[in-house]
Amino acid sequence: MAHAVLSASGSSRWLACTPSARLEEKEPEKTSSFAEEGTLAHSIGELMIRYNNNEFTKRTFNTRLNKFKKQELFTNDMLDYCSSYAEIVREKYLTAKKNTPDAQLIIEQKLDFSYFVPKGFGTGDALIIADNCIEVIDFKYGKGVEVSAVENSQMKLYGLGAIAEYDMLYDILEIRLTIVQPRLENISEFSMTVKGLRAWGDSIKPIAQKAFKGEGKFCVGLHCRFCKIKAKCKAYADEQMELAKYDFKQGPFLDDGDITNILNRVSDFKKWLKAVEDFALDQAVNHGHEYPGYKLVEDRSNRKYADQDKVLKALVEYGYEESILHKPKELLGITAMQKAIGKKTFEELLSELVIKPQGKPTLVPQSDKRPSWHSEDDAKKDFEGFIDKEINNLKKDVDPMDGYVLIGDLDDDLPF
Ligand code: SF4
Repeated sequence: MAHAVLSASGSSRWLACTPSARLEEKEPEKTSSFAEEGTLAHSIGELMIRYNNNEFTKRTFNTRLNKFKKQELFTNDMLDYCSSYAEIVREKYLTAKKNTPDAQLIIEQKLDFSYFVPKGFGTGDALIIADNCIEVIDFKYGKGVEVSAVENSQMKLYGLGAIAEYDMLYDILEIRLTIVQPRLENISEFSMTVKGLRAWGDSIKPIAQKAFKGEGKFCVGLHCRFCKIKAKCKAYADEQMELAKYDFKQGPFLDDGDITNILNRVSDFKKWLKAVEDFALDQAVNHGHEYPGYKLVEDRSNRKYADQDKVLKALVEYGYEESILHKPKELLGITAMQKAIGKKTFEELLSELVIKPQGKPTLVPQSDKRPSWHSEDDAKKDFEGFIDKEINNLKKDVDPMDGYVLIGDLDDDLPF
């Protein structure tokens, strides 16, 4: 698959750090199971949308789907998520058709935004053109980070590509940018006028020119997360090493401010250290590079049976009962089970049978969406406090005539 140097998906990076794109270009293409999983999910999603759109028969659909099902990364779970995505596209298309009977649904469209970004292009997963408006829908199969469509540069570049493609044919005034991320139940939408989007395109033109030439200043930020050269980037290392230079206040102990400062950086710092370690190992193993004071050795490994069948045969022949030689049968874990039987079936059959024990406490920034942690003891105390409060209220407020009588041990006779 061809990649643009200034890709839409990498735009948050090259818009902020213009030298990054040309440096990343020199790195070897690496794929990951996550990327391959995403590609497979996109193919299945596309198949489902095309089938929903009556582009082929049920038989063709099943034949093609069965081929995807044979792929190693396929799971029933994936089928459910792709089906949610396809259903959302279908609903949006049907809604558009209600208002604009000749609305168009276009799948996997190459979007060329090179008028604004040198040699820039990408692929729109689904486009709906109706009544002065184009909606660009992007299917995200990842679940690591919830992605918002609001002011999202990747989506805006797709939008510019969509306008370039269809502006001559339709009178488009508005563009809607939608991200569907079914594994996080995230549907994020953002609308702009075509005029506003073009103005944004004009504003990034000089930045894109700089990025295409590999010029400009390095700039560290959240956009570094997926940068291919993060492990060897000096600007990123400088930023991380700032922690070491942190000017702690006088006195023998760190104060709360010092610890908060360190906590703020722990996550990125650990990831960076790991990235540098992985990079150095790759250089040493695959490129014979030597780092002063370090050498490659064989790591510890655990013993394992060379041939499980032969092991079993030897033990049974010796006289051991086969039943004591196997591990007890074990159910699949929740995630593996959900993958094996699909999310919908899992919900239907097992939702009542799944419990969620309290998680261990973990320190996160205040901005984290999760509610604050309470130990089970705290929860019990809160509940007891609530009960005491309610008893006092009852003592004060309950009318003896309204059917409730407080007798003996109050706790046993509460009307709830
Ligand atoms: S890691 Fe370095 S090159 Fe990559 S985006 Fe960050 S600052 Fe730029």
